[in-house]
Amino acid sequence: MANKCNTCGATVPDNATMCPYCGNAVTPTQPSNAVLNSTEEDEPSTGLNWLSLFIPLAGWIMYFVFKEKSPIKAKSCAKWAWIGFAIDVVYGIFNALVE
Ligand SMILES: [Zn+2]
Repeated sequence: MANKCNTCGATVPDNATMCPYCGNAVTPTQPSNAVLNSTEEDEPSTGLNWLSLFIPLAGWIMYFVFKEKSPIKAKSCAKWAWIGFAIDVVYGIFNALVE
């Protein structure tokens, strides 16, 4: 599918951002509806955040699972995974020092 130049009406290649005939910017005739139609909720999930906190590995796995479709949820999981990991490390050092 090719785009049409809004200014001179010439047919321009799909991926062209500028008309090769008149030099005007070409706006795609078909805005990607994929982004607009994605109604799947993408917000941090409290349950998954807790799971990530206690099992950081699960949080990182969820990050890779969700990052395409739910980047906000994915980043939240990764963040809590790092916090859980940091707590584990601090706790481990603390235990090592005490013994
Ligand atoms: Zn043109």
